[in-house]
Amino acid sequence: MKPVIIAAELRGLLEPDQLAGLEVTWLPADQPVGKGEWVAIVPLLSRWVGGSELKRLPNLRIVANCAVGYDNVDVVAAEMRKVIVTNTPDVLTDATADLTWTLILACARRVVEAIDLVRAEEWRGWHPELLLGVELRGRTLGLFGAGRIGQAVGRRAVPFGLRIIYAARTPKPDFERDTGATRVDWSRLLTESDILSLHAPSTPETKGIINTDTLSRLKPDAILVNTARGDLIREEALAIALEAGRLGAAGLDVYTEEPTIHPRLRAAPRTVLLPHIGSATHDTRRKMAAIAVANVQAVLAGQPPLTPVYR
Ligand code: NAP
Repeated sequence: MKPVIIAAELRGLLEPDQLAGLEVTWLPADQPVGKGEWVAIVPLLSRWVGGSELKRLPNLRIVANCAVGYDNVDVVAAEMRKVIVTNTPDVLTDATADLTWTLILACARRVVEAIDLVRAEEWRGWHPELLLGVELRGRTLGLFGAGRIGQAVGRRAVPFGLRIIYAARTPKPDFERDTGATRVDWSRLLTESDILSLHAPSTPETKGIINTDTLSRLKPDAILVNTARGDLIREEALAIALEAGRLGAAGLDVYTEEPTIHPRLRAAPRTVLLPHIGSATHDTRRKMAAIAVANVQAVLAGQPPLTPVYR
C-alpha cells in the first residue's frame, strides 16, 4: 500500500476502487501537512504547497492539485525536487463557463436587486422603468485570457448576439473562425468591452491587472466579471469605482483572501458576489477528484501523469 495524503473534503466524491492500493491519510483543509513518508498529495486550491511543505515530504513524487489553477503550488520548488505537479483541466470548463454566464446575466439584468426587492416585500407591481438592465445584443464581450474557459464563455456569447474581442498571449484561429472573435491588445480590450470577463491564471504578470488605472479606462457602464482568480483584481480599487458610479456592475466568484471579501467590496453597490462555485456541479466535482487521483495512480505505477502542468 502506498501512503498518500488526500484532502478530506474530497472523500464523498471518490469511489473505493479509485483508491485501490493507496493508504490514504484524509487531511482536512485547515490542518497543516506534517512531516512524513507520503508519496503523493491531493490538495484543494486553498492549501499552499511550497518549499517548506515539500521539505517535510521527502518521498513525495506528485502534487495532484484538485483544480485547474495551480497558483497554490510552488511549481519551481516542486520541479527542483523532481516532484510532478498535475491539475484538472477540461472537466470543469463547461461548469465554469456556465457560471460566468450566470454572473454576466445577473449583472446585466440586475437580478440581485430584483430578488432583494421581492424578498423585502417592496415590489409594487409592473412598472415600465422598474430595474432596467443592459440589452446584450450588439454589445461587446471582452475576454482576458482565451484558453479553455475563456473560449467556452466566448462560444456561449454567439447566440446572445455579442461581438467578441479577446486578449491572450497567442492567437486562437479556430476560436476566431467559429465565433468571429478578434484578438486585440490589452488597451483596446479595456476601452472597447461592455462586459470584461477575466479568464487568465494568477501569475506575476496578471496579479492586480485590474487596478485604479485600468478601472478608469473601462467604460463607465461596463460590467466586470471574474471567475479566474481573485488576485487579478485590486479589490479596494474596484469597490471605490463601484461606490463612485464609475463602473456598471461587478460579478465575482473569486477573491484575494478567500473566504474573506474586502469589506468595502462586500458593501459596494451593483455587485453579484458568489462563494467560489465556478466548478461546483455534482458531475464536475466528481470528475475533478477522479482525475486528481488517477494522476496519483498513474505516477505511482511508473506511468506518465495524465494532466501535468509542465513537461
Ligand atoms: P487555460 O486554458 O490555461 O487558459 C488561460 C488563458 O490565459 C490562455 O488563453 C492564456 O494565453 C491566457 N494568459 C495567461 N497569461 C496571460 C497574460 N499574462 N496575458 C494574457 N493572457 C494570458 O486555463 P483555463 O482552463 O481556461 O482556466 C483559466 C483560469 O480559470 C484558471 O487558471 C483558474 O485560475 C480559473 N478557474 C476558476 C474556477 C472557479 O471555480 N471560479 C474554475 C476553473 C478555473 P495563451 O493561450 O496564449 O497561453
